[in-house]
Amino acid sequence: MAVLEILKYPHPTLKKRSKEVERIDEGIKSLIRDMVKTMYEANGIGLAACQIGVPQRVIVLDVSPIDPQQSFFAMINPEIISQEGEIDHEEGCLSVPDCFEKVKRKEKICVRGISPEGKEMEVAGEGILAFAVQHEIDHLNGILILDRLSHLKRDIYRNKLKKEKRKEEKH
Ligand SMILES: [Zn+2]
Repeated sequence: MAVLEILKYPHPTLKKRSKEVERIDEGIKSLIRDMVKTMYEANGIGLAACQIGVPQRVIVLDVSPIDPQQSFFAMINPEIISQEGEIDHEEGCLSVPDCFEKVKRKEKICVRGISPEGKEMEVAGEGILAFAVQHEIDHLNGILILDRLSHLKRDIYRNKLKKEKRKEEKH
């Protein structure tokens, strides 16, 4: 198990559509272990494999710090099979530091995928669980919260990033 570096915007791997996992082998199991370690180390509630540089459709989630009724799960090839309602939810992303913005999300979802043991699994939920699942599936499709903001807000963030870079270069 290893704690890996979390890629940050504008890393190109974050913009790619991740590929379906075709076989659950030792490689995938070890990837999931690394993702879990990396997520907890960063105090995150979710992580997609592409965030540690592996563009495969694998997510890990543990929203229990916010909703204690929920618990950890990992899902391979997740797909939202039903959704309901719409709400603005303020969220951040480990790959987009210092950006907390309201993003349009569905209120309730049901997601289907494969467990690390190779069994079909379904998770249904609302609130933070639903938002986090949508956020991580966005990652698998190469979408960041920045892509869900208005042009204006995105430009403000990009300019802030540029300024910080310039400051770093001067030092
Ligand atoms: Zn994220």
